[in-house]
Amino acid sequence: MAVKVILEKCKGCTKCVRSCPFTAITMENKKAVIGIACTGCGQCIDACPFGAIERAEEAPGPADLSEYHGVWVFAEQREGKLMQVAVELLGEGKKLASVIGCELCAVLCGSGVENLAGELFEYGADKVYYGDAPELKQYTTGAYTKAIYEAILAYKPEIVLLGATHIGRDLGPCLAVKCSTGLTADCTRLEIDPETKGILQTRPAFGGNLMATIVCPGHRPQMSTVRPGVMEKAERQPGRRGTLIKLDVKFQEGDIRTKVLEVVKSVREAVSLTDAEVIVSGGMGLGKPEGFQLLKKLADRFGGSVASSRAAVDAGWIDHAYQVGQTGTTVKPKIYFACGISGAIQHAAGMQNSGLIVAINTNENAPIFDIADIGIVGDLYKVIPAIMEELDKYPEA
Ligand SMILES: Cc1cc2nc3c(=O)[nH]c(=O)nc-3n(C[C@H](O)[C@H](O)[C@H](O)COP(=O)(O)OP(=O)(O)OC[C@H]3O[C@@H](n4cnc5c(N)ncnc54)[C@H](O)[C@@H]3O)c2cc1C
Repeated sequence: MAVKVILEKCKGCTKCVRSCPFTAITMENKKAVIGIACTGCGQCIDACPFGAIERAEEAPGPADLSEYHGVWVFAEQREGKLMQVAVELLGEGKKLASVIGCELCAVLCGSGVENLAGELFEYGADKVYYGDAPELKQYTTGAYTKAIYEAILAYKPEIVLLGATHIGRDLGPCLAVKCSTGLTADCTRLEIDPETKGILQTRPAFGGNLMATIVCPGHRPQMSTVRPGVMEKAERQPGRRGTLIKLDVKFQEGDIRTKVLEVVKSVREAVSLTDAEVIVSGGMGLGKPEGFQLLKKLADRFGGSVASSRAAVDAGWIDHAYQVGQTGTTVKPKIYFACGISGAIQHAAGMQNSGLIVAINTNENAPIFDIADIGIVGDLYKVIPAIMEELDKYPEA
């Protein structure tokens, strides 16, 4: 806790309890007790008329930070298929592990998915911690949290990385609370201080207008969720082997408080923007929802996918599953066509790492041209048919 109560001075007036915006203070035997929800904001220090609350010298962390070793990646799988973000995290995890000279490990949960361990070794994991149980076949918060939390307690990783998928965004905070540690969500960059082994976790803040770098100095493991499509995928080394460690996972009644009755796949899962090599994306410059049909023709020419700006989604022209950007999907295709998209910072945040950016816009001053590799000033309804006409001349390409 960042503040402490001087018991001799505390008169039990409860003013601190009422002042705390985080309901972190309770009364026990007429004395204030600071709970784990304390953020160290200091409101209680000002509220106490008896000077009975002070800042603690230093926030106490776990017993010994040096007990924690290794970078762990949550190897998210669905229906026995490894999610691409796990491969990206292994790529990033390898870099972090090599700076601090430790092992890269994956933690895998499921039922009958041991074969994925081989894939994880080939993508760079030195060890795979594997929890196998019928209760882990489908993701539930209770089952996965219990299995991985117990593994963290037993093996004490220094760093735990999860994909910022629906599952990772649910699991990460639960694990962080159980471990009494911090979690930085939606990171777009990770670096590490080789001396302190502290990760510098960078993520957009204030609507994407600035980047915040967050550290977790006093607690372990350090935990981050990372958006799919942001980090470089690990390179596969066929035949690479590692150590498989089977976790002793047992569940009791009450451990799992949710029951999966049915899995209904949404459009979002059918749209795989993160895997597409070519994306043809449209914005308000399309002028009407039918404009996406033209974009689809171009996308089909490359075996790619259409995508959109948020404004087009908000206009009801296309499903949110197709949205690229800060509040949509982050993509990194080989070619990204931005058609009738102005290039707002929130859109650029989701596509600026694409291999080649081709922008088509009637306004030569549109910000999209600042990040485009090829800029075409013109009406997309003339430019796209002209591109397709040219492509048709090279059917083998
Ligand atoms: C917190 C927050 C989060 C956000 N998250 C996202 C996000 O994830 N993704 C996202 O995209 N946006 C996001 N936005 C919205 C973002 O700020 C912009 O409003 C949005 O990206 C604009 O979409 P657009 O480029 O399609 O539309 P506009 O800005 O209206 O641009 C349309 C462009 O089309 C051009 N044009 C017009 N006619 C033609 C034509 N015939 N041919 C070619 N060009 C033409 C115009 O010159 C113009 O540049 C977010 C905003 C906030 C505040």
